[in-house]
Amino acid sequence: MNHAPMTVPAREPEPGDFRSLAPAIHRGSTVVFGSMAEYGRRRDRFYDGYSYGLYGTPTSRELERRIAALEGAARCYVVPSGMAAITLVTLACAAGGQVLFPDSVYDPVRTLATTLLAPCGIEARFYDPMIGGGIASLLTPATRLVWVESPGSVTMEVQDLPDIAAAAHRHGALVAADSTWATPLRCRALDHGADFAVNAVSKYLNGHSDVLMGAVSVRDEALYRRLRDVGRALGHGVSPEDCALVMRGLETLELRLDRAEATALRLARWLAGRPEVETVLHPALQSCPGHMTWRRDFRGASGVFSVVLAAWTRSRLPAVVEALRCFAIGASWGATRSLVAPIDPAPLRTAVPAPATGPILRLSAGLEDPALLEADLAQAFALFRPSQGTADHASPPAVEETVR
Ligand SMILES: *Cc1c(COP(=O)(O)O)cnc(C)c1O
Repeated sequence: MNHAPMTVPAREPEPGDFRSLAPAIHRGSTVVFGSMAEYGRRRDRFYDGYSYGLYGTPTSRELERRIAALEGAARCYVVPSGMAAITLVTLACAAGGQVLFPDSVYDPVRTLATTLLAPCGIEARFYDPMIGGGIASLLTPATRLVWVESPGSVTMEVQDLPDIAAAAHRHGALVAADSTWATPLRCRALDHGADFAVNAVSKYLNGHSDVLMGAVSVRDEALYRRLRDVGRALGHGVSPEDCALVMRGLETLELRLDRAEATALRLARWLAGRPEVETVLHPALQSCPGHMTWRRDFRGASGVFSVVLAAWTRSRLPAVVEALRCFAIGASWGATRSLVAPIDPAPLRTAVPAPATGPILRLSAGLEDPALLEADLAQAFALFRPSQGTADHASPPAVEETVR
């Protein structure tokens, strides 16, 4: 057993004549070496080859190769969750300095800021997601990293990544983009100026609600090595079974996205015409902040969007949401089943007020029959206007008043 050290990520040859279309699942903690000299050189294999199961298996390296290809990246590193990916990039880049997050950021990042970054001496600041090149006014010599999440969680602001990246780079800061909504099929963040493209693989890339994983893709070898070094210190590793499931998910990513995109657009347009709805936050609709930026930078949409309801709907909202039959109540979107998540955006903000005050429903279109989903929304929304006669505080105003 004398394996030469591998220098490039490559697919392990299958034994004998077994040539499968499915990627092989390689389990292993210990990796054995053929000689004392080889064992002595095992650290040479850390970034590319195999020295210990935690640092990579042929299955995880194959998944990383495929995600890097989708992102137009040179390198990818898969870690145990999307949140782990965000924390990894932040710790790897912002140590001893400041990091900027959009105010529309994935909410658990705020916990990262208070529970880990602050005690470690990393200052987190939150900025108006629509700031564009104006971010320059927030950049200081201490700013190491600027995060972009476009569109933002819940409130869906599409950010001007090229302008933000240009300003950050002029000030010597790195730029990380959380591309979970778009996936590399709808927007390759690295093509628009980001140094790191981060994906919560748990969402569309896997796409079946059964794997938790995150991915960081980069073009710069030094940044890749820095991520690997910090990831090793954090003890990150992923299971080969999970990697194989994600590779299965990738086979249908485009089909699933196309279907979810079409369904979501149909539902968004239907909802925009409803009197209970104040506005629909979907990047492909003009009512979404940053719509023109979406048209410029994205090759399409995915299936997640938000609906801002009129304030008067609040008291009846639980009954309406619970009447939905096709939409399950839950988070972690981007899979085969449609989801609804009721969200109050106001407490999520610290830099600028939320762009909406009414209750928000975030919808994730799954792969069900779009007509059934629309009918499901219609039967549930009918409960906003129960049969006449029982006037109470929550009664909707007359239809004529609410249609604009
Ligand atoms: C879900 C999500 C994450 C975190 O992914 P996990 O794998 O659940 O940790 C990060 N960013 C965005 C935009 C998300 O939607």
